[in-house]
This record gives sequence, structure tokens and C-alpha cells, in this order.
Amino acid sequence: MRTPGTVTDEALARLRRFVVTSTSDTVTSTNVYTGGELATLPRSTPADVLTAVELGRRAQRGWAAAGFAERRDVFERFHRLLLTHREEIANLLQAETGKTRRDAFEELAEPLLVTSYYLRTGARVLRPRRRAGAMPVAVRATELRVPKGVVGVIAPWNYPLALAMADAIPALLAGNAVVLKPDSQTALSPLFAVELLHRAGLPEHLIQVVLGDGPVIGAAVVDSTDFVAFTGSTRTGAEVATRAAARLIGCSLELGGKNALIVLEDMKLDRAAEIATRASFANAGQLCLSMERLYVHETIFDAFAERFVAATERLRLGAAYDYSCDVGSLVSQAQLKTVTEHVDDARAKGARVLAGGRPRPDIGPYFYEPTVLAEVNPDMTCHASETFGPVVALYPFRTDDEAVALANQSTYGLNASVLGADIARATRIATRLRTGTVNINDGLVSAYGSTDAPMGGMGDSGLGRRHGAEGILKYTEAQTIAVQRFPLLNPPGWLPYGVYARSTAGTLRLLRRLRVR
Ligand code: NAD
Repeated sequence: MRTPGTVTDEALARLRRFVVTSTSDTVTSTNVYTGGELATLPRSTPADVLTAVELGRRAQRGWAAAGFAERRDVFERFHRLLLTHREEIANLLQAETGKTRRDAFEELAEPLLVTSYYLRTGARVLRPRRRAGAMPVAVRATELRVPKGVVGVIAPWNYPLALAMADAIPALLAGNAVVLKPDSQTALSPLFAVELLHRAGLPEHLIQVVLGDGPVIGAAVVDSTDFVAFTGSTRTGAEVATRAAARLIGCSLELGGKNALIVLEDMKLDRAAEIATRASFANAGQLCLSMERLYVHETIFDAFAERFVAATERLRLGAAYDYSCDVGSLVSQAQLKTVTEHVDDARAKGARVLAGGRPRPDIGPYFYEPTVLAEVNPDMTCHASETFGPVVALYPFRTDDEAVALANQSTYGLNASVLGADIARATRIATRLRTGTVNINDGLVSAYGSTDAPMGGMGDSGLGRRHGAEGILKYTEAQTIAVQRFPLLNPPGWLPYGVYARSTAGTLRLLRRLRVR
């Protein structure tokens, strides 16, 4: 693990311990930069998922009873360990995803920010709250936040550490156990985080990992846990929601996007090009928040396009375990195929390729050039479908109303961006966009990094939110405890109920006037 691109047998043996399995079957991951084998890990069965949930359920009771202060100590140590081991984590992330060192470092920032945020706010958000009782004085009501029990976390391959941990950390801090199902290609970095959690003092079985095919093992997680936090494609998210609904358990879904960035005519062009480049090509575009549609005011369209294309062509595409590259590899052959098909389809139907547009097997098996398209129309697949790769299309617009209408012309609603010098105008546009986050004068980091604010999607981009108070409360059930100090709605035996009802109605009218109830 210390040598980039390789995992020692000793390290693998340590990580394998956290995978629940009863057979000798395995899953194998690929070193994305080379296409060679990276690691072999145990494969779980649906029965193993049940075992993990059962063990988690037993461990969870003591963990919930321990209280927030004890849980907090574990995560204080976890935060320090993540920082101490940041280079090893980056090595793992790069080897199993093919991302650049910078993308790996930015990925690590998420569990650090999330841990720190919930360490600061978790106790306050989860503490019991006095609520107005049924009748003042007569009833004292308290709202408690009770952990759900065992939370299933299902994570994708593009940000395997960040997205697994962004859900697991608040779930654990709220007093739950977690059964985590990462993608089999990208299980090493989440497994390493699980090892660090144990080294930080997390009791056994509170977080366990299951590995295997999504429709089998992911489905078994949905079928046996008490709440599911899913991140992945819209198609799978809908399946997860249907399965969860059949069991009457809750789920949160962080799904795909076809995100739009609007460049207003008063924006400085060089800055706009710089922001748009990172917003489109970070993580080789395999980022749910990244931009695939750029709407540019017609008066600056050509000038912006020139600068944007130049900035795109300056990006250094490469496979290196240091900070020398700007854009890394796609994750797999399947991903390369989708990206190639989207670009070839657009080209064949008349789109202009302003930059990129080619695979780069000379660098690594799954590399594809950052690609800028123009004259994309609704007949082309990449017009409305998520490419999830380094491909972005430029479109002109004339008025703010048109920009809003075009940006909102998507079934997705995850992230958006408005670039402009007049912040009031950009904010007015932002409030008209149907997306869970809107970044002004940035592409994606500002909103996502604001961990105090909720993050998630509208429409086909998901259900529920991570980050903010919602990001931890979703792992709890609200429980109301009400203590009756004086009898309510129970007239004394000598009083006819009709008389009692009239006097109670009068009392309710008075309480309303006094704004008490
Ligand atoms: P995916 O839906 O194929 O897989 C995601 C996870 O679900 C994997 O662990 C997979 O094994 C598992 N899975 C597959 N079928 C399942 C089933 N039937 N039941 C339960 N689990 C199942 O998605 P992917 O290709 O890994 O990820 C890419 C997608 O994720 C993109 O659409 C991207 O936009 C989205 N994404 C969204 C966010 C967000 O926060 N909104 C973040 C990252 C990725």
C-alpha cells in the first residue's frame, strides 16, 4: 500500500478480515492505470449479508447505549488517522479508480469534513428536545432521536471512500451499526477506512463490509437492513427504492445528474474558462456533480469557447502517483465504451468536436481525452443522457429566461452553476433552477464542501439529503415521550360530556387567541 499501484499480501490479509464471507469465492479488482490485477478479496453471499446484519444488530445496542460522547472519541481518533495515512489512502484510490492525485486528495477531504462537522454538531442535533405538550402544563412532551438500527450503505466506484464514508460516519455517530457494500472494483479504500475506524476504537461488528454483484448482494442489503443510504445510478436507485418500499423501510438516494453551467456575459472570460474546465473534467468527468452542459451568453460564446478549448487542451492527461497530471483515467472498459459511444454518436449526427474526442490507449487502457462538443442537438444521446465522463457540450443562449429554461430542461436535478460578475443577478437565476445545489462562480466544490448545508438531488437525481442536520437525522427515528400531569379530555364523572366539550372548545379558542396552542 505504501508503494503506489501495489497492495502487499500483509495489507490485503488485514483488509480481508472486514469482509463477511462464508465461502472461498472471491472478487478481483483491476489496477486501472495498467489493466493488470490489483487485489483479490472475499465474495459474500446473501446469507453472509444476513449474518452481518445480525452481528451488527447485537453490537448496535451497546453502541447506542454508550451515548454520543463515547462515540465522539472514536471519531476524533479516526479523523487524526485519516490525516496520518493520507498518502496510503491516495495510493489506493488512484490504483482502484485511475483518478489523479489531486482528485484523490480532494476525495479524502470529504470524510475529514464530514467527521469534523458531525463531531461539532452531532450532539446538539441529536439531543432530546422539549416540545409543546398537548395542553400547556398538563402535558410535558419530549422528542427523542432513536437510531434506526442497522443501516445499509451502498456505494459506487467513482468516489468509493468519500461516498461510503459520507453516509457511514453520521450513521455510526447517530448510534447505528453499518453494513457497507462498496463496488467490488473499489473496495480497498473503504476497507482501509474501516480498518482505521477499528484502530480508532470502534467496537467489533459496528461496521462490516459485504462484497459481490450489486443485484445480489446490494439487494440482500436492502432486504435486511433498517434504512438504506444508496449512491449510484438513477436506474439502480429506483430499484432500491421499490425494494425498500416493499419492506416499509426508508432510504436516501444520491443519483445521477446532467448538470448545467451558465456563463453570463459580464463574467471574466479567463476565470469562466478556468472554473468550467475543472467543473467539467475533475475526476475525468466521473463525478455526479460535474458539468456536461455549458450554456454561454451568445455575445461571448465564441470568445469563451476559444478560451475554454485552449484551457481544455492544456490539461495534462496521465497516469502518475503524484500531482503532475490534471486528468486521470476512466474506471473501466465499460465506462470507456459509454464515453466513446456518446462522442461517436454526436459526431456522426453532426456535432462539432472542438477538443479531444479520442481514447488514449497510449497512456493507459481506459484513458479518454477531455472533450468539448458544439452543435449538440436532441437527436444525440449525450444531449440529455448522463455521459459520466470527460465530455461537455456548449450551447448559446440569449436571455436569462432562456438560460433558466434550457438548464431546467432535464429530468435530473442534482447540481448547477452560474458564473457572473453581478452576484444579485446570478443569485436570481440560481433560485429558479430545479437542482439540489447551485454554485455561483464555482462549479461544484463550494456547495458540496458546505457540509452545514444539505446536499442532494431533485427529480431523477434522488431522494433525501446528505450533510447538514438532515444528513444525520435521517439515520434516526423520532420518538415522542409525553407525560400527562393532569387528566386531559376526561371530564369528572358528575359533569355531562356536552358541558365539558363546550368548556374545552372555549379553552381552545382562548389558547388560540393567546397564541399558546
Ligand atoms: P450503479 O447504480 O451501477 O451502482 C452503485 C452501487 O449499487 C454499486 O455498489 C453496485 O454494486 C450496487 N448495485 C447495483 N445493482 C444493485 C441492485 N439491484 N440493488 C442494490 N445495489 C445494487 O452506479 P455506478 O455505475 O456504480 O455509479 C455511477 C452512477 O452513480 C452515476 O449515475 C452517478 O451520477 C451516480 N453517482 C451519484 C452521486 C450522488 O451523490 N448523487 C455520487 C456518485 C455517483
